[in-house]
Amino acid sequence: MSEQQNFDVVVIGAGPAGYHAAIRAAQLGLKTACIDAALGKDGKPALGGTCLRVGCIPSKALLDSSRQFWNMGHLFGDHGISFKDARMDVGQMIGRKDKIVKQFTGGIAMLFKANKVATFYGFGTLHKGNVVKVKQHDGSEVELKGTNVVIAAGSDSIELPFAKFDGETIVDNAGALDFESVPKRLGVIGAGVIGLELGSVWKRLGAEVTILEALPDFLAAADAEVAKTAAKEFKKQGLDIKLGAKVSKAEVKGKGKSKEVHLTYTDKDGEQSIVVDRLLVAVGRKAASKNLLADGTGVKLDDRGRIEVDEHCHTGVDGVWAVGDCVRGPMLAHKGFEEGIAVAELIAGLPGHVNLDTVPWVIYTEPEIAWVGKTEQQLKDEGVPYKTGSFPFAAVGRAVAMGEPAGFVKVIAHEETDRVLGLHLVGVGVSELVHEGVLTMEFNGSADDLARICHAHPTLSEAIHDAAMAVDKRAIHKAN
Ligand code: FAD
Ligand code: NAD
Repeated sequence: MSEQQNFDVVVIGAGPAGYHAAIRAAQLGLKTACIDAALGKDGKPALGGTCLRVGCIPSKALLDSSRQFWNMGHLFGDHGISFKDARMDVGQMIGRKDKIVKQFTGGIAMLFKANKVATFYGFGTLHKGNVVKVKQHDGSEVELKGTNVVIAAGSDSIELPFAKFDGETIVDNAGALDFESVPKRLGVIGAGVIGLELGSVWKRLGAEVTILEALPDFLAAADAEVAKTAAKEFKKQGLDIKLGAKVSKAEVKGKGKSKEVHLTYTDKDGEQSIVVDRLLVAVGRKAASKNLLADGTGVKLDDRGRIEVDEHCHTGVDGVWAVGDCVRGPMLAHKGFEEGIAVAELIAGLPGHVNLDTVPWVIYTEPEIAWVGKTEQQLKDEGVPYKTGSFPFAAVGRAVAMGEPAGFVKVIAHEETDRVLGLHLVGVGVSELVHEGVLTMEFNGSADDLARICHAHPTLSEAIHDAAMAVDKRAIHKAN
């Protein structure tokens, strides 16, 4: 064991939450170290966490490749574009994705260097007195002491006891981002964000995709009308989503390339079975708190293994903070970004702050789904009086010109004050549009504010303008 090294801030984990905390702390003049245990596909250390290695960025790379391929077969004809024998080279597509991942994980290493963040590659364990012992990949150990320690350990896939990951036939997100060829039949357990995004990728490339979802409602967290519209579009695309399907068995049979997974599930009609070639299990993620805390640190875990923190991401132990997926709140990269920055600023004596009520959600399917704020159901449950205004993309010139008329925008405002309480969207480009809602809500704006803001024509954003006007039944481009 080498001598103890002292820092103002020691960050455990270099995912979105951790690298933001480390870089912002260093920018503020604090002597900062960041530790990360992850290795990339090439077996070398790779910073950036789940998001850059096996999450946000690689999934969007594959969503984009597969969307181009799908559009060739389903959209180009309308534009008068014809071609013969379009084929997808899966190896080329995966290679492109890997290159993007390498560019971004390497980018974090460069940013750490530029900001003088000391980087340690290995597994860190927090001990009493803000000491972090790091077991490095070469087997050596270093001891770091932080006046402050920021835990940003992230999350891991949840494994089902009867469907253990084998990295080949039964996989989690990492495996489904790396199939060598398009599976003929892909089974997915969980119609959540990963199931829909990665299910869409392989469906667009020709797989028969069956998604088994335990709950009776589709996308229960989203606005009910948004979920209904999205479900209709996914059905048209051929995604077979079975709701209320409780899987009890997943048996791998056969050998080599002819391995199959025999799935047994029960639904309202009793016991059912299907056979697939690959199975993606996407039933949620759990905080990566295993082996993270030595005895006696005083840091507490909640009943889901997440690190307990207050509204400022403080654990209650002097100088120990926690951010990102390993604490309460949505498991989203941008939520982690903001918490990482806020904690670094709080440590430096500045007023760091994160508003969990205005964290946007986006599902990058086709059509995209996005929202910020409350749904109608939540407001009903809370007894808050509200009014709504909706507008369909089918009446938006730009969307129709693009050949993307599916979906709509819904603005929810307080019945009396007109303050915007939620924005819900399904359609083309809504991953960008949702930020109009975030901005309006952050500035306590009203539906009338949104309606009186000049929106460029022809743009997709006009759907928000007309939806805001529809709140007071004065939309121009539809009957109110
Ligand atoms: P992570 O990104 O999980 O990073 C934690 C890091 O800490 C890891 O590198 C880990 O190796 C390291 N670590 C853990 N414990 C230790 C330890 N003891 N010592 C040293 N290092 C340690 N979110 C979005 O907002 N948009 C998306 O489009 C999106 N797409 C996704 C797609 C997929 C397939 C998946 C799986 C997730 C996606 N997410 C998306 C979620 C997003 O990836 C996470 O919310 C985000 O990565 C969490 O950031 P984090 O820093 O808290 O943790
Ligand atoms: P999820 O929570 O989004 O969805 C999991 C789904 O699996 C739920 O619908 C749940 O009811 C279902 N389920 C749970 N147990 C089941 C079982 N035994 N059988 C059948 N269905 C079951 O989780 P996920 O899709 O694994 O994604 C994890 C997290 O990663 C997301 O919640 C999100 O925070 C993050 N993520 C975000 C994005 C994005 O922002 N676009 C993309 C991917 C992942």
